Amino acid sequence: MARYTGPSCRLCRREGIKLYLKGERCYTGKCAIDRRSYAPGQHGQARKKLSEYGVQLREKQRAKRIYGLLETQFRNYFEKADRMPGITGENLLRLLERRLDNVVYRLGFASSRNEARQLVRHGHFTVNGRRVNIPSFQVKVGDVIAINEKSTESPRFKELIELAPNRGVPAWLERDLNTLSGKVVALPAREDIDVPVQEHLIVELYSR
Ligand code: SF4
Repeated sequence: MARYTGPSCRLCRREGIKLYLKGERCYTGKCAIDRRSYAPGQHGQARKKLSEYGVQLREKQRAKRIYGLLETQFRNYFEKADRMPGITGENLLRLLERRLDNVVYRLGFASSRNEARQLVRHGHFTVNGRRVNIPSFQVKVGDVIAINEKSTESPRFKELIELAPNRGVPAWLERDLNTLSGKVVALPAREDIDVPVQEHLIVELYSR
């Protein structure tokens, strides 16, 4: 599936917040938001008052960029969320959270969602003992996600495993650092999803 391959820091600067797209670099003084906290481009420093549409659009772009999706993929998630019972905005965030690449990131087995996506693509993870290399794979309650045994020997995984205890895990997941695995113990509730997004604005945008 296609993905955005342009400069990541530009996306954070456009949204005006840290989206943590680059892993460890985001926590250092090299972060572009810390150095230039204004939008990119020639008119980036100009004052702009956003219209109602503009506010809704920015909210959607922000969510899309946090999860590393392109417009069609994101729109498909919205349509699926809209068909589900319950609140569409919350359904949307739940579907996004349940992506395998996001779960790997949440478990602390990758430093960013981008890295998680690449590691999944390269077959470094199993779900219930079977290798899964599809980043959009939807996990369900009871699934066990583990690092492939062979992969644990790679220098990058050694680094990630060392750093993993510093990262908290949301309430709907359980991590076991002895077996280098995680379990989905519940579906994510809205309060477990700490992304800075007002999902009702996305619903309003797509309902225009
Ligand atoms: Fe965003 Fe990370 Fe770049 Fe900072 S370093 S601007 S948080 S991607």
